[in-house]
Amino acid sequence: MTIAPSQLQQEQILLTPQQQHYLKRVLRLRDRDRFIVMDGLGKWWLAHITGEQAQVLEELTVKTELSVSTTLLVALPKGSGFDEVVRSCTELGVACIAPVLSDRTLLNPSPQKLERWRRIAAEAAEQSERAFVPTILEPVGFNDAVANATATHRYICEARGEYPHLKNVLTQISGEIVIAIGPEGGWTDRELEQALAHSFQPVSLGKRILRAVTAPLVALSLISAACEL
Ligand code: SAM
Repeated sequence: MTIAPSQLQQEQILLTPQQQHYLKRVLRLRDRDRFIVMDGLGKWWLAHITGEQAQVLEELTVKTELSVSTTLLVALPKGSGFDEVVRSCTELGVACIAPVLSDRTLLNPSPQKLERWRRIAAEAAEQSERAFVPTILEPVGFNDAVANATATHRYICEARGEYPHLKNVLTQISGEIVIAIGPEGGWTDRELEQALAHSFQPVSLGKRILRAVTAPLVALSLISAACEL
């Protein structure tokens, strides 16, 4: 269960009514049953429930993070596809996701959507026992997304053309990765040139054309396979 750092008062956690409902009604925990608490910032504790509070028993060491920090730049797909991208990529270990407004998708999502994606990321991080809740950034234009990338390893997934497979460029890498995935209609030539100008390397995810919501999962799966601790 994720708690706000402000809820942790010494070794007692003051549970909100929603948290009590989740622990007692959904998980059916009784007094002194143990559960894991995380602050979403990398700290984990073993705790047990005592009435309307929880008692912290010990701090835990977590090993569920990847050895590289991965930022996904994902051109916003149509409909609710981004929900699934956020959920699955959180399970697969992403550190940060930026919804990108590209030439072929100019859907500027509502602030409620951003809140929803952040909630999905928090739930998925908890479900998959991540130490960190990934950051979901505000939607950003493509030019700014590539111009502001600071990661040493920068990739742009391109469905057409002869590019090295992502799995073959992920050997012995460390530090930070940023990887861009295009929309249903693909990147425009202008965007590809812009990315190359900012040192993004075009990569392939294989011979088949993947849907815009499948490609981020495949990219993250390859990264997590190569960079599991
Ligand atoms: N008609 C589009 C095109 O020709 O580029 C297909 C776009 S695809 C549905 C959506 C995005 O997923 C692409 O822009 C690319 O970033 C990524 N993608 C899908 N399949 C890929 C592949 N086999 N290799 C690399 N990237 C891929």
